[in-house]
Amino acid sequence: MDFEFTEEQAMLQKNVRAFLEKEIAPLVNEYEQKYTPFPREILVDLIKKLLPWDYCLGIMKKEDGGTEIPYITNGLLQEELSRVWPSLAVSLGSGGGYLVAKLATEEQKKKYLPGLQSLDLMGAFALTEPNVGSDLRGVETTAVLQGDHYVVNGQKAWVTGGNFADITILFASEDRSQGMDGLAIFLVDRRESPFEATTIPKIGLRCAPSAIMTFTDCKVPKENLIAGAGTGAMNKLTGELGFTRATVGMFSIGIAQAAIEAAIRYAQQRVQFGRKIGKFQMIQGLIAESVVETEAARLLCYKAYSLLDAGKEAIIPACGGKYLANEVALKVTSNAMKVHGAWGLAEEYPVERYFRDARAMFPPEGNPEIQKLIVGGRVLGMSALV
Ligand SMILES: Cc1cc2nc3c(=O)[nH]c(=O)nc-3n(C[C@H](O)[C@H](O)[C@H](O)COP(=O)(O)OP(=O)(O)OC[C@H]3O[C@@H](n4cnc5c(N)ncnc54)[C@H](O)[C@@H]3O)c2cc1C
Repeated sequence: MDFEFTEEQAMLQKNVRAFLEKEIAPLVNEYEQKYTPFPREILVDLIKKLLPWDYCLGIMKKEDGGTEIPYITNGLLQEELSRVWPSLAVSLGSGGGYLVAKLATEEQKKKYLPGLQSLDLMGAFALTEPNVGSDLRGVETTAVLQGDHYVVNGQKAWVTGGNFADITILFASEDRSQGMDGLAIFLVDRRESPFEATTIPKIGLRCAPSAIMTFTDCKVPKENLIAGAGTGAMNKLTGELGFTRATVGMFSIGIAQAAIEAAIRYAQQRVQFGRKIGKFQMIQGLIAESVVETEAARLLCYKAYSLLDAGKEAIIPACGGKYLANEVALKVTSNAMKVHGAWGLAEEYPVERYFRDARAMFPPEGNPEIQKLIVGGRVLGMSALV
């Protein structure tokens, strides 16, 4: 067992942190107040600044135009970005076309990947619906084949970047009686298959665009089908879930780390009863718990990445790491607010945003309850999700 980054990874962590502190951190407060959510052009500019650091393209295969960094390296990049700006970390998936590269046909990749990688095109992934969250068997959006195109009707909800996406990976039911097996995956090119979209204002991750997308008799050409009903469309996705869940875990860990650093800074300078509050045992207890529990969640997510790098399955550490990191980040950001007393509630300190962002990180990739049920189902050999 090796708990250290390689020399190269440690150097990258140091350098990317310095870059993010210099180029990105100064924008956060102003943009979080001003943009709810990011306008497209602002997000594109921000992602372009990150591309040279292997954000977006790092996790893609060389043959798909990526740089193929190890999952662990990607994890450290995500933690560092989320430490500075969780809204930006969550929005990154709109660029680069990772899921198009993973799911689409060679023909479709040829057509869309270059535009997604240059950020001339922005992407989204639309699965959740107003009435369909954890239980994907009930997808209500329908796709009906009519001649050389499908006609799509329905709504998607909470789709990151769905408001400005040019290219959307869309899940729709071709046959609702078949539940999950009736699902098909499409690539919707908004320029030829228009749909409406509005954004959902939310408690945290305010700059990250969360959209409701409405498809009304939207015609999607047959050649934009990725996988049809009865071809195991969902299986194409499940292989990705270990990676994406561990990554949301890293986002939560980045937030927790930022909150710990803020709490330490404050405890080292705030004076009450004639001493720095960092000298009080209960303040030390809050900070100690925060450091230890964040490290435990971090190690679990890195274990998931380490298994994935070795080509192994990582469901338990990825789902476990995701929910542990979500819950730890909420506790740690709350602890940081306690350390700040009344000032923890004030917008002039960052901890109130960390707390809001930590809470908003629960649902993406599945709420903690669902992650627990996946872990429970694995270890018991029986699923609660029937
Ligand atoms: C910031 C953000 C980004 C997102 N990005 C995207 C995106 O890009 N694309 C996309 O398609 N979706 C996206 N989502 C949606 C997200 O994937 C869903 O919110 C999530 O999968 C679960 O759906 P739900 O929140 O509606 O919860 P529901 O399924 O309605 O659950 C409600 C509550 O009941 C609990 N619950 C449900 N079933 C069970 C059970 N069997 N046992 C115990 N408890 C249960 C849940 O844990 C939860 O606490 C995003 C959400 C957020 C907040």
